[in-house]
Amino acid sequence: MERRRFLQSLAVMGSATALGRAAQASASGAPAEAVGMLYDATLCIGCKTCVVKCRETNHLAPQRTRKDLGLHDMQTDLDFDTRTVIKLYKKTGAGAGPDTAFTKEQCMHCLDPACVSACMLGALQKREFGVVTYRPELCIGCRYCQIACPFGVPKFDFASATPRISKCELCMPRLLEGKEPACTEVCPRKAIIYGKREALLAEAHARLAKQPRRYFPKVYGEHDAGGTQVLYLNPAGLPFDKVGLPALGDESVPHLSNTIQKSLYQGMLTPAALYAALLFVVRRNQKTEAGDDHQS
Ligand code: SF4
Ligand code: SF4
Ligand code: SF4
Repeated sequence: MERRRFLQSLAVMGSATALGRAAQASASGAPAEAVGMLYDATLCIGCKTCVVKCRETNHLAPQRTRKDLGLHDMQTDLDFDTRTVIKLYKKTGAGAGPDTAFTKEQCMHCLDPACVSACMLGALQKREFGVVTYRPELCIGCRYCQIACPFGVPKFDFASATPRISKCELCMPRLLEGKEPACTEVCPRKAIIYGKREALLAEAHARLAKQPRRYFPKVYGEHDAGGTQVLYLNPAGLPFDKVGLPALGDESVPHLSNTIQKSLYQGMLTPAALYAALLFVVRRNQKTEAGDDHQS
């Protein structure tokens, strides 16, 4: 198992064990009322209207780079004040696929969210419409959610004296008012659209069937990481991992950690033995890293 995935499993396992909640962390199907977004990279022109509107709607400060001396809003990645970002992919070398393409990042609103399983205090919750929301008053700033999320979404406010996490909450206040998310409302190309997850999935498959030569033949998020409520279509010849959407398999992180726990218990390994094994791995890694440092 790759190291990052292992650490994610540990974050989820540790908190689930602490509260005896492991049994709840099983993969689930999409709730009937689940809503989400479909991002079609073949339609996006990279105008970033969605990014600007997201910031405005959520009352977040512009992200400025040191290089441009604060003249422009220059978001390059998700951070505490940036809940969505548009990134440009550029092909390197020869081969199939487009030379450039855009991709949009924000919370994926996983069907079985690792962040929710990892949060010991219930500050992250899966709520109405399957949206994963955040309650700052319950957060102690442990940042387990950051380690657990396989998409690197939750961001911590290091500048604040009180612990706070920031992530897309699918514009929950707008949804409760019967509106759509701000980013889908303003997209001039309808590259990002809102709707029930089931309808979005049907729409994505209809596009693939209608124009098979236009698209990479997969809907990302249909099954990936146990399924997500934000779905993606990519141009033909462009696999999703090339634009930063990781190949995670069909099992969610909480389900994976639950399976590991079950196998360990079935093998009559006690939690003490488990933690002893983990301690051994951590110590071994520390030694390896110390060795690497000396070599560099
Ligand atoms: S993408 Fe990360 S932050 Fe969003 S629901 Fe999934 S695990 Fe949680
Ligand atoms: S749904 Fe709302 S919070 Fe999420 S990326 Fe879109 S505008 Fe931002
Ligand atoms: S507003 Fe639409 S077209 Fe413009 S960058 Fe966002 S998703 Fe792409």
